[in-house]
Amino acid sequence: MDIEQRRILRSEIPGPASKALHSRRQQVVSNGVGALLPVYIESANGAIMRDADGNQFIDLGSGIGVVTIGHTNPGVVSAVQKQADHFTHTLFTVTPYEPYVRAAELLTKNMKGDFPKKAAFFVTGAEALENVVKIARLATGRNEIAVFDHAYHGRTNLTMAMNFKRHPYGTNYGPLATSVTHAPMSYPLRDPEGMTGEEAALRAINYLEKRVGADQLACVIIEPIQGEGGFIIPAEGFLATLGRWAKENGILMVSDEVQSGMARTGKWFACEYEEGFQPDLVTVAKGIAGGMPVSAVVGRADIMDMNHPGGLGGTFGGSPTAVAAAVAVMEQFEDGPWLNRAMEIGEIMQEKLDAMVSRYPFLAEHRGRGAMQALEVVQPGTLNPDAPLTEEILKACYQQGVIPLSAGTYGNVIRMLPPLAISNALLLEALAVLDSVCSDVAASKGMLSASSVE
Ligand SMILES: *Cc1c(COP(=O)(O)O)cnc(C)c1O
Repeated sequence: MDIEQRRILRSEIPGPASKALHSRRQQVVSNGVGALLPVYIESANGAIMRDADGNQFIDLGSGIGVVTIGHTNPGVVSAVQKQADHFTHTLFTVTPYEPYVRAAELLTKNMKGDFPKKAAFFVTGAEALENVVKIARLATGRNEIAVFDHAYHGRTNLTMAMNFKRHPYGTNYGPLATSVTHAPMSYPLRDPEGMTGEEAALRAINYLEKRVGADQLACVIIEPIQGEGGFIIPAEGFLATLGRWAKENGILMVSDEVQSGMARTGKWFACEYEEGFQPDLVTVAKGIAGGMPVSAVVGRADIMDMNHPGGLGGTFGGSPTAVAAAVAVMEQFEDGPWLNRAMEIGEIMQEKLDAMVSRYPFLAEHRGRGAMQALEVVQPGTLNPDAPLTEEILKACYQQGVIPLSAGTYGNVIRMLPPLAISNALLLEALAVLDSVCSDVAASKGMLSASSVE
């Protein structure tokens, strides 16, 4: 599908065709399934999504970091079409097929670490997390798992317990899984001033040793950049210190790269940014297959092989069209300019976001790596989160055809995960819209400081 890479507003947002579809939906789709922006998409390409009314939106969310390689990437589309034409299902655990093996070759080859690796494929991110916990418990003979404040890991029973936000994800869905402990995260904006990554890690380690006991822990699971938590990047030294402690205590270190992984930050995996940090196991999903549902656990072959035959799997895990898409994505990440492109996008965004943070007193900071960037919104002069203002800004962007997302434990983070296929012109246009929305908000609330009035 070729779509002109241009923002077009043809109707009010949402327009009449989307509204009609939405009222059909409301008759038959559970209210439990949310809808941030009820415009119904008919086609998409690159960084543009076109809705049922012919409006064209600049996508700054990539379906939460899924179509990293761009909407309807030609390599992905043709890999899926070709595979669907050959066969759509046999079940890898019954009668296997090559693309699954090829996807595992690419994944194991591109995970850092000086040891043999193996992989297993599943469907969703939450399922990868469920499986990594199974694997860690089996491999260590221990039950307890450690996760972090502000973490997000999914919506199954176990992963609901692993999320920092019990509310709303777990609200009234209990009892939730036990043996999960949240340790304090390194959150540089909100930690005591000057706290180093190592100090923050010792805080977490001390907490876990007192509350759970190091010899009880099967694994420590951490997002090297927290996704739903608001793109929190732990201070340098945090991950490496944790990793050393885990190793000394026979605890497996898991990097949850479901959101941060696979070229998004300019590296295959975001954990590569931390010198001296080596996870034993990595979970991936979202961005690895251009929108096809597939996830994986990849890591130390000796650990992956402790699982007995039949212990891992599932009917749709590593489904043929999904792994064919994953192969198409990973081959392009290996051969193409995508990782560099993520860095370029990051540089462009950081420059613009930097200017916005200095201009608008309600923006506490911007943070991120590569094409994973966020702004934290606060009440001016404080660190008090301002969720209503965040929502106001996002809604105004949507009205103008630009789609960033919200995030953060306190709902006060504007997160941006543009497809790497976005052009500089389109990216700058989207950022200009965000800037003008912030300017309007600031003016309407009398929040422009003297120095920012031009
Ligand atoms: C989205 C996400 C998950 C859950 O993935 P699903 O495919 O939605 O089940 C797990 N971990 C992280 C870091 C995520 O961002």
